[in-house]
Amino acid sequence: MYRAHSNRHGRREDRSARCSGPLRAGRHPVLRTFLLIAILVSGATPALAWGDLAHQMVNAAAIEDLPEPIRSYFRARKIYLLEHASEPDLVAHEDPAEGPHHYTEIEAYDRYPFRQFERRFVAEHWRPLPSELRYGDSVWQIERYTLRLAEDFRRRRWDAADHDAVFAAHYAADLTQPLHTVINFDGQLTNQRGIHARFETELVRDLAGRWTLRPEPAEVVPDLRARIFRELVASYSDRQVIFSADREAAAGGGYLDPQFPARFERLAGPLALRQLNAAAGLVSSFWYTGWVRAGRPVLPRVHRAPQLVGARTGEGR
Ligand SMILES: [Zn+2]
Repeated sequence: MYRAHSNRHGRREDRSARCSGPLRAGRHPVLRTFLLIAILVSGATPALAWGDLAHQMVNAAAIEDLPEPIRSYFRARKIYLLEHASEPDLVAHEDPAEGPHHYTEIEAYDRYPFRQFERRFVAEHWRPLPSELRYGDSVWQIERYTLRLAEDFRRRRWDAADHDAVFAAHYAADLTQPLHTVINFDGQLTNQRGIHARFETELVRDLAGRWTLRPEPAEVVPDLRARIFRELVASYSDRQVIFSADREAAAGGGYLDPQFPARFERLAGPLALRQLNAAAGLVSSFWYTGWVRAGRPVLPRVHRAPQLVGARTGEGR
């Protein structure tokens, strides 16, 4: 969950603070390893920031959501898929061009219900101009990496498939975070600054230990762009739940009120859980679709330790 970009007025804004709390495990190898072991060994969901923990939870649930034989194939790669779940965020910390891949501010293109955007994105296969990339292009990145995954499977490039599965999963999961679809991504327009971290970091950190993800079963996606657009609109449609919960929880005592976290969790926690389930179902469906589009190739039984291909930009070959 990384967002650092120029806003629609061309002003640079660093969104990393909201996506990377003080316990951002991805930047601390020891902590990251501890978290990974905790998830792998116990099946528990230790409480830490959405940025790492949530992506790991989503990938772990997505693996179990797959049908055979691809479930066994991804199970054998679970350590890689969880350890690298936030790799795109780490890339974004060092490469400004990576940041916009993590969100799509659909309001910048069209007004709800976004029929014009739907026509251009889904029917006309339109791509944004470079000048429009500041609004984010996660929806294109999801398609791009799912298609790359299919090509990897087709050509039996198993290491590349690991890498592209991670990137497709990360961008797909980010799409389900409603604040990754709006211009008012951190409440800066509604006097709710910090809402991004309060929702995706602090709330998830406090509640994730009680959650078990149960996504809808993976399914083959016949039209990638139509599916991505549907998820984008669904995610956008839930944004007001977060803004309203934040406002209501802060009423009276403000954000420093000791009762704020419990109130906010009660109001916004169910949405966070629902969106993580949506993310896991989306990820498993795109992974499954990549394999089916490749012609359901026979999958290798023995796992080789994968090399991260093109990790810096995703353009490694
Ligand atoms: Zn991200």
